[in-house]
Amino acid sequence: MIIPVNRYLYVVQSEQISFPYCVSVLVEGSQRVLIDSGCSQEVASELRGRGLDVVINTHFHWDHSRQNQNLGPVEVWCHHLDAPAIRSAENFIARYGFKDFGAEDMGKMFLKYHGIEDRPVHRELNDGEILDLGQVCLRVIHTPGHTPGHCVFFDEYHGILLSGDIDLTAWGPWYLHICSDLDDYISSIEKCRELKPRLVISGHKGIVDQDIQARFLAYRDSILRKEEKILASLQQPLSIEELGALRLFYGPQNQFDSYIQFWERQGVYMHLQRLIKQGRVMEEGNLYYRT
Ligand SMILES: [Zn+2]
Repeated sequence: MIIPVNRYLYVVQSEQISFPYCVSVLVEGSQRVLIDSGCSQEVASELRGRGLDVVINTHFHWDHSRQNQNLGPVEVWCHHLDAPAIRSAENFIARYGFKDFGAEDMGKMFLKYHGIEDRPVHRELNDGEILDLGQVCLRVIHTPGHTPGHCVFFDEYHGILLSGDIDLTAWGPWYLHICSDLDDYISSIEKCRELKPRLVISGHKGIVDQDIQARFLAYRDSILRKEEKILASLQQPLSIEELGALRLFYGPQNQFDSYIQFWERQGVYMHLQRLIKQGRVMEEGNLYYRT
């Protein structure tokens, strides 16, 4: 489904917009540019028929880059810190921490299941660049935290922010792998809010045009709420496994299998790193204490 936002911008929405898919944005300027390629096969065929020049990935994740190779002879652009993870499947999977958390086989399965291979990136983007696409100019804004090279793109003239995985979903920010950084994520959410966009097109929510300021704050606060729950649980020393069992991220409704346990532990690990840095938590042996 291709929905016009104005004469130059279109929201591209597949039937599913949660992982492993996302909402893409088509820019019809002097060049035809797609922001994120996490669309279905059918939508990718339709876009290929239109003739694209460039695909820009907001970041390396599969749900934002899955169709890079199926859109015809396009150039792929991405921030220089995430380009290595698109170019190399080995780099891609190393960023998820499967090896670090003793789940290497799970990582191999992840690559195989999604069919992730090495793929080209033709141009590396930098913070502050202005992409002049004819009738639309997009400012590249580096917004790390979700991934090291995550970027949002701002059409300043129309006040439209293409926010990728600063996605304003009720689920909240996703940072369950070792290449995330919570302090950066919080700063990046704030950076987006300060742009005062009139309209946001997010990677898993689509068009957001109401209560934008409050939604950015609520999105940020969902990180802080989880942090408070971890601190409250640390009235007694706990291991990362015990903290993972709090199921702060996927909740009690999902089966607590080894896959979910892996993500829960990594999410808690990200919080613990931040709390240790702040001097609010200490680690001794394999236990975490409140200071
Ligand atoms: Zn992502």
